[in-house]
Amino acid sequence: MQKGIGIAGIGGRMGRLLVEEVAAAGGKLTGGIDRPDVAAPAGVTMFPDIAALAAASDVVLEFTHASSAISHARALAAAGCAWVLGTTGLAAADEAAVAEAGKSTVVVHAANFSPGVNLVLALAERMAAALPADQYDAEILEMHHRQKVDAPSGTAVFMGRAVAKGRGVNLDEVTDSGRDGHTGARRTGAIGFAAMRGGQVVGEHTLLFASGTEHIALTHRAFDRRAFATGAVRAALWTEGKKPGLYSMMDVLGMR
Ligand code: NAD
Repeated sequence: MQKGIGIAGIGGRMGRLLVEEVAAAGGKLTGGIDRPDVAAPAGVTMFPDIAALAAASDVVLEFTHASSAISHARALAAAGCAWVLGTTGLAAADEAAVAEAGKSTVVVHAANFSPGVNLVLALAERMAAALPADQYDAEILEMHHRQKVDAPSGTAVFMGRAVAKGRGVNLDEVTDSGRDGHTGARRTGAIGFAAMRGGQVVGEHTLLFASGTEHIALTHRAFDRRAFATGAVRAALWTEGKKPGLYSMMDVLGMR
């Protein structure tokens, strides 16, 4: 890499870990951006905005807030700067902007950069294809720390998409999320979501296939956010020399 790696949201929980992980991987940090009221990690160059950071970097690692997705997608595409995006809670319009950026630059978008979760996603799709939807009810249970602002988690949604893909259905048409009150009986083929929030849980996800005669559960527990930071830096280094496109962590891990 000629210029180096920039970080959007550098003062946040993930941003601070990314500073350490870029150094641990032997990468060159160009600097970062954050909100004006957020203190920058010591010794880091701060840029005025995303356009300035993109111009100074080969790739930008971003873990911020969904409200930045559309403007940042445009800025990174205009600069031809690669983008490793980990922010969750993206709406359909945000996802469309991310996909559009992938037409002119390299974009790696993952709701979860841990290698273990990506393996779980691959297994979820295969299990869903093997277990008939009218016999095996798919339920996704997740728990995260009390500060998390979106639910269900991005990873839970990706698990749901993996199950839907394995079953050949559209997740939006079969989602059953946040049950409360008189919901009626479970719809055959529904993919259920439940979210728990509390304490400082880094991230726990269980995908359960429940039939009348057996339960099969696939659980992933992250004990340290560093699992995401290490994976994201790996993705940033992987972008070098790649053609523009929208990639996932599966591509980075060579699982596709
Ligand atoms: P955080 O609140 O600690 O940090 C976010 C930082 O981004 C803050 O410092 C905030 O000031 C900054 N920010 C927000 N909008 C900005 C903007 N427009 N420009 C510059 N900076 C901006 O949160 P966190 O725990 O670090 O998580 C950040 C995001 O990453 C969340 O969406 C979270 O769900 C997601 N996340 C994804 C993964 C993954 O593997 N994909 C892992 C952990 C967290």
